[in-house]
Amino acid sequence: MSEMNKSRRDAVKLMLGGLAAVPVLNLVGMTSVQAADLPHVDPAADPTAKALKYVHDAATATRPDKAGTPGANQHCANCQFIQAAEGEWRPCSLFPGKAVNQNGWCASWTLKAG
Ligand code: SF4
Repeated sequence: MSEMNKSRRDAVKLMLGGLAAVPVLNLVGMTSVQAADLPHVDPAADPTAKALKYVHDAATATRPDKAGTPGANQHCANCQFIQAAEGEWRPCSLFPGKAVNQNGWCASWTLKAG
């Protein structure tokens, strides 16, 4: 095996490793400014939002108690699917490419760990 083949193979491995890391960096590295640029989920038109009963204001939803958390304490900001630590509008992993309101809620709400 020549040195050229080995270094070519190493370069391909490096590129593939870099490509695999891109989606993770996109989620982790998204700033609140970038998140604010995302289109907002439209509860009236988005099929996922309709199916999950998403609303921008959790207080307007009927929120059943879930795993020991009263419905009144459930909102997007404390859900495990929210993708940014701050900002009024943030990405949610259930709505790729869109932002949900930090005070919103949907039927998939799950308490953020930690
Ligand atoms: S999954 Fe969580 S963060 Fe996403 S819309 Fe539903 S309640 Fe909000």
